[in-house]
Amino acid sequence: MSGTLVITGGSRGIGAATSLAGAAAGYAVCVNYQGRQDRANAVVAEIEKSGGKALAVQADVGRAEDVERLFQTAQDELGPITGLVNNAGITGPRSRLDETGPTDIARTVEVNMTGALMCAAEAVRRMSTRHGGRGGTIVNVSSAAARIGGANEWVDYAATKGGLDSMTVGLAIEVAGDGIRVNGVRPGLIDTEIHAAAGAVDRLETIAPSIPMQRAGTASEVAETIIWLLSDKASYVSGAIVDVAGGR
Ligand code: NAP
Repeated sequence: MSGTLVITGGSRGIGAATSLAGAAAGYAVCVNYQGRQDRANAVVAEIEKSGGKALAVQADVGRAEDVERLFQTAQDELGPITGLVNNAGITGPRSRLDETGPTDIARTVEVNMTGALMCAAEAVRRMSTRHGGRGGTIVNVSSAAARIGGANEWVDYAATKGGLDSMTVGLAIEVAGDGIRVNGVRPGLIDTEIHAAAGAVDRLETIAPSIPMQRAGTASEVAETIIWLLSDKASYVSGAIVDVAGGR
């Protein structure tokens, strides 16, 4: 593979695994992060140690000016953008909707929904043959919560992921003639730090027995699916949303 990938939230969890897998597949990788520069630098160092090309760029995907700067920096430093992984996401606190405050709801929507839409728009402006680009691919990292609904945990989060799935379907149709494929993955329970960050430290152990495959997935298992969707091996796949959820 060749080209430049922008991976939002590429510094930890599923994003970090995708950054490493993308570099191993031959892409130059823009590792975006919001606050943890040390973690982004560690991913970049690991890629460079293996002979790959990567760059850490701080940007809050919920801010329009940050998104524009993220893509411009990636393009200036690594070359024309050929792929976007819309991965950055937060759950907000784990609670019923009627116990979730407006600030938390707004921030979840801002990062997961507005942020993903703004990044997709920026990627299309740069990759579309309509705008003089060479085409490309977008993969949206949704969640099984879009199907399950997130009741008693994070209905607002699940709703943003449902919105993301709608974006995958609509944008895939809109830009199919522009040389751009748009797909999604819906991870199930994946072993990352997102659960503890929401105050649910034992979530993996509690939920794993109820999953048909009786275990949580790994970030790498999701990353492999994302890299396949980005690649030419998926050249006739667009508008698809692949469940990576252990049968859940
Ligand atoms: P994670 O381990 O918590 O990592 C989140 C990543 O997103 C970090 O790199 C973080 O950067 C970045 N990020 C957060 N807010 C951001 C913002 N406003 N702007 C830019 N970057 C931001 O999460 P994860 O579990 O890997 O989840 C990744 C994606 O998979 C999310 O969209 C999540 O909804 C989805 N997902 C996860 C699971 C699961 O079980 N883990 C299941 C289904 C779907 P900093 O470190 O700098 O904050």
